[in-house]
Amino acid sequence: MIESILTSSLCTGCGACAAVCRLKCIEMAGDKEGFLIPAVNAERCINCGLCLRICPAAAAAPEENAEKKPPLLYAAFHRDIKKRGQSTSGGAFAAIAEAVIAHGGVVFGSGFDRNYDNVVCREAADAGELEGLKKSKYVQGRMGNVYFEIEKHLNSGKLVFFSGTPCQTAGVQAYFQHRTNSERLYTCDLICHGVPSNLAWRRYKDWLSEVLGGSLSDFQFRNKEKGWKNSLRSCAVNGRKVLLRGKKLDSYCQAYYLNLMLRESCYKCPFDCKSHADITLADYWGIEKKGIFSGHDIHYGISRIEVNTARGRDFLAEMGPGLELYPADWDNRCPVKTVRPVQRDNFYQRVNDSWGAVLPLIKIPFKSRVKLMAREYLPEWILNILRNM
Ligand SMILES: Cc1cc2nc3c(=O)[nH]c(=O)nc-3n(C[C@H](O)[C@H](O)[C@H](O)COP(=O)(O)OP(=O)(O)OC[C@H]3O[C@@H](n4cnc5c(N)ncnc54)[C@H](O)[C@@H]3O)c2cc1C
Repeated sequence: MIESILTSSLCTGCGACAAVCRLKCIEMAGDKEGFLIPAVNAERCINCGLCLRICPAAAAAPEENAEKKPPLLYAAFHRDIKKRGQSTSGGAFAAIAEAVIAHGGVVFGSGFDRNYDNVVCREAADAGELEGLKKSKYVQGRMGNVYFEIEKHLNSGKLVFFSGTPCQTAGVQAYFQHRTNSERLYTCDLICHGVPSNLAWRRYKDWLSEVLGGSLSDFQFRNKEKGWKNSLRSCAVNGRKVLLRGKKLDSYCQAYYLNLMLRESCYKCPFDCKSHADITLADYWGIEKKGIFSGHDIHYGISRIEVNTARGRDFLAEMGPGLELYPADWDNRCPVKTVRPVQRDNFYQRVNDSWGAVLPLIKIPFKSRVKLMAREYLPEWILNILRNM
């Protein structure tokens, strides 16, 4: 039974079990921390076991992929510097997604909903819709009807590019792996640190809106005003841009980096370094020191592209013209190994009341606090000198 996954807190919320259930007896419902988990209607369930067979967390990561180095590794950035600036890393996702759309395809990724209350996984079929999928959001995206929407497009012969966290991508791969119509589905995941719930995000958003005195929009987790390496949080309130300086205003991201509010399954992620996707995207931290970018402006960031499959290699060759691609043999990737802090339970007990109630739990080590303050207040050129010292 699928409950065995839930009680072991391995469930990632990918929703593949609910999508595959022919009797529609599984529904994704919010738990007390605000994460979606499968709720099984026991009266309708006939114990066919399909949900468990498809569950990527139950199957864990396939051994043959275990901690293998990716066959091909690239450092890359979008050829259009403006679009690079609008992305988290080097804009690899945007360049590939634009090519997919130009080929008549559809892109699936995660974006905020209209009021910035939730992050949801949704499709983009044109440049306007793609805007909302760009940039990292440190909130778990809800899968909703994505499985059926992908299927609809595949059935009509369309090219589909799905991009998500490793667990979401594993769900999509598991759902489509035995379906005959999946040849035109390509998947991409991200190196992922873990995801907080939409509930935690909403509590922070409501608190921040109140403190800043207006409704919030355009939240950026990695604003690159001071460059890729010195990114800060920013948002817009009543049309006015605000840089979120200081421990309290920036408390959501500080809690995120302290691993205080991640989904239980993130602390023992079975997909870290064991990708199910055709390609994997990430920040390529440190690659600029390898000298392969001389003459290029790396201010807006560099993407790391791991090509995990032969299909991924062919896909990138076709969808990569918008990218400046550099084969790389320097691999600094190591397992993320997210540690569960003792205060994590306390966090979710309190956050139901208000964001203010969790602020005392967010204790930033002195060294990190100094670094953050320097980043918030010093100009970029001084930060770059300090970094190179
Ligand atoms: C929660 C999270 C944690 C991450 N942790 C790391 C890390 O520890 N180390 C590292 O090197 N890189 C990490 N990344 C990846 C990195 O931040 C960039 O997303 C990645 O390098 C792609 O950048 P880009 O410039 O190509 O495109 P961008 O435009 O920045 O990325 C957009 C892509 O990210 C996806 N995305 C955004 N938010 C979410 C979300 N909440 N859930 C699922 N997909 C989402 C979009 O669907 C789209 O595919 C993380 C990303 C996320 C979302």
